[in-house]
Amino acid sequence: MSNVDAAEIAKFSELAHRWWDPNSEFRPLHEINPLRLKWIDQLAPLTGKRVLDVGCGGGILTEAMAAAGATVTGIDLSEKALKVAQLHLYESGHSVDYQLIAAEDFAAQHAGEFDIVTCMEMLEHVPDPASVVAACARLVKPGGWVFFSTLNRNPKSYLFAIIGAEYILKLLPRGTHDWAKFIQPAELARMAREAGLDSQQLIGMTYNPLSKIYKLEANTDVNYLMATQRAD
Ligand code: SAH
Repeated sequence: MSNVDAAEIAKFSELAHRWWDPNSEFRPLHEINPLRLKWIDQLAPLTGKRVLDVGCGGGILTEAMAAAGATVTGIDLSEKALKVAQLHLYESGHSVDYQLIAAEDFAAQHAGEFDIVTCMEMLEHVPDPASVVAACARLVKPGGWVFFSTLNRNPKSYLFAIIGAEYILKLLPRGTHDWAKFIQPAELARMAREAGLDSQQLIGMTYNPLSKIYKLEANTDVNYLMATQRAD
C-alpha cells in the first residue's frame, strides 16, 4: 500500500477516542457537519442512495448520511478511528459498513457501485491526492456524484488555517495540517477532470472567530467544497 502517510494515520489514531466529543480536537468537524450534509443532500438527495465515505474517520458525516436514509459504507486506514466509528453505532442505532481499506484497493473491487462518493477533509493528508480522486471516480456510477472538501493553498490560507486555527484560536492541534499539501480548486478540478469527473459546484466555507459560526459562501480562499459528477 503506497498512497498513505503513516504519520498522518498515527496523528488521527492518537486522538480517535475523542472523535465524538463535540468539544475535542474534532469540534470543527462536528460544527461543519450539518452544513456539508445539507449541501450534499440538496445536490444529490441521500435517501435510498448507496453512498461511500472515503477517509471517514470516526464517522461524523458517515453516520449522518446513514441517518438521512442512505445505505453507507465508510473506509479509512486508521484502525482506531474505525473502531470508534463502529462503537458509536451502538449508541446511535444507525447502521454503516466500516472497512479498513485504501480507496484505490476498494475501487479495484467495487467499481461503479455507488450513487454518491464523499471524500471530505482527507485529500490534504494523502501523498498522491490525484490517485484518491481517480479511485473515487471509479467507484461512482455513471451520472453519480463525488463530493470533495479540502483546503486552498495561498498566503491567506497559511495565515488562517495554520497560524489562525492552530496557533491563535487553537481550533485544531498544532501540526494538524501541512500547508504545502493544500490543494487549489483549479488543481482539484483538474484531478477530477482527468479522472472523468465534471466539476458542478465550487463553494467556500468560512469561519467567523467572533460569532464562532461556520458558513458556506462564495469565498473559497481557505476551506472549500467541490461537487463533481461522473459523465454518463
Ligand atoms: N472525512 C472525515 C474525517 C476527516 S479527518 C470527516 O470529514 O469528518 C481525515 C481522515 O483521513 C482521518 O480519518 C485519516 O485517518 C484519514 N486518512 C488520511 N490519510 C488516508 C489515506 N491515505 N487513506 C485513507 N484514509 C486516510
